[in-house]
Amino acid sequence: MTMLIDQLKAIVGPDAWKTDPAEMQPNLTEWRGLVFGKTPILLEPANTGEVVQIVRACAQAGVSIVPQGGNTGLCAGAVPDESGEQILLSLKRMNRIRSVDAFDFSMEVEAGCVLADIQAAARDADRYFPLSLGAEGSCHIGGNLSTNAGGVNVIRYGTARALVLGLEVVLADGTVLDGLRTLRKDTAGYDLKQLFVGSEGTLGIITAATLRLFPDPGETSTALVALSESGDAVRLLAHLRGSLADRIEAFELVSHRVFSLVEEHIPNARLPFEETYPWYVLIEAATGRNPDELENALVNVAEEVSILDAVIAKNSSEAEDLWRLRHSIAEAERHDGVGLKHDISVPIGRMQEFLIRGDALLESTMPEAGLLAFGHVGDGNLHYNVSLPSDLTAEAHSEAGARITHGIYDLVAELGGSFSAEHGVGRLKKAQLREYRSTAELDLMKRLKAALDPQNILNPGKVI
Ligand code: FAD
Ligand code: ZN
Repeated sequence: MTMLIDQLKAIVGPDAWKTDPAEMQPNLTEWRGLVFGKTPILLEPANTGEVVQIVRACAQAGVSIVPQGGNTGLCAGAVPDESGEQILLSLKRMNRIRSVDAFDFSMEVEAGCVLADIQAAARDADRYFPLSLGAEGSCHIGGNLSTNAGGVNVIRYGTARALVLGLEVVLADGTVLDGLRTLRKDTAGYDLKQLFVGSEGTLGIITAATLRLFPDPGETSTALVALSESGDAVRLLAHLRGSLADRIEAFELVSHRVFSLVEEHIPNARLPFEETYPWYVLIEAATGRNPDELENALVNVAEEVSILDAVIAKNSSEAEDLWRLRHSIAEAERHDGVGLKHDISVPIGRMQEFLIRGDALLESTMPEAGLLAFGHVGDGNLHYNVSLPSDLTAEAHSEAGARITHGIYDLVAELGGSFSAEHGVGRLKKAQLREYRSTAELDLMKRLKAALDPQNILNPGKVI
């Protein structure tokens, strides 16, 4: 190992590695502080050539590598295990926006670009990159692609998978797969790039990507709508889709309890209503030159869906205030302590059934548990999180947690859903992958992993 470490230090040069545990601490801690890893060295290569050399050296020594982006992932995929024998490879210095082509509606970026910087570069060229999530100020595009991130605009633009045109990937033997094309149509053989999207660093290291850009959606309208039951959200969405068609950019459901947590923990976060209501939906729609369109659509729908109250942002600052409430949820939950997180999806039409049966399940398993439900209901994706009473012993906490989680995932499976809608599997959901994916699917995943990484050196112990 000592020889390898010296070799790795020489590859990246003097200012691009760390071995001091205190300095590496933020890179070794999972975002919620649930998992702590160890590593002999953190490497920060500057370009693809250095990544190739690192991978070759590690492959030769049979030592494994954990790729890391912004380390905001929620399944502990980006931190090494506790063995202290896995090399941690951060892409953060590979953060160049190589080009933005306004006519081609595409851009080429390095994997370590922060998502918000990519959005800004697209905006500067009068174009739009729609991927948007609470961690956008620190997550990297390489991490977004490796987790097939979703976020708040999936309803109109799809997940990260739909936004990638090409990838440059370093394979486990150091081969560079150069697929940085910007083609919209290309049926020449297997679509290899999509293998790496959502593979969480287990099949290759993404070093650069070409991304799909969109026209600026123009003026958008933002509304916060109060509802008495979650099922109204699904009905509201169906009706609004009738009038606004594909111009709904975001449709986010949040329970009152979740927004209370935001008001409690996030400075200056306030709901714009005098009264409290059980559920809220935050809606954004591209309304262009007809700014009243969203309001009119809501008025028209009032006969079909019971809307208790609603505010429409009058300007961008009010819209930002509404979005801040939504984007602060993960941070507020983190302040609140360790709860159970379930990032589930079900067919949109079965969302209400899921919520009703989920309630019954919590009531019968642990009535004192608090439900914190919110998410991208327009995509059938809910963060169905549960806070357990703080006075439970660690043992009771883990026993109740396991029972609740299992019950929820069984229910999701019965409704034809997924135990992981957008956060991936990482280290935390491996058991669920084994339990809820079919033998044929698991078998094929293992064969792919063995074919691409026969030595098992790329992020071992994650996903599969
Ligand atoms: P990391 O956490 O560093 O890594 C994630 C995984 O990808 C790891 O397995 C890592 O090994 C691998 N990886 C990273 N970079 C590379 C690379 N270049 N090549 C190969 N493998 C790589 N997620 C959503 O989908 N939707 C949301 O709405 C959302 N909201 C969030 C809000 C907050 C406040 C937070 C903290 C997280 C949220 N997340 C959300 C989760 C997280 O932000 C996303 O999963 C994000 O895509 C991770 O990017 P990252 O750069 O931080 O990746
Ligand atoms: Zn989410």
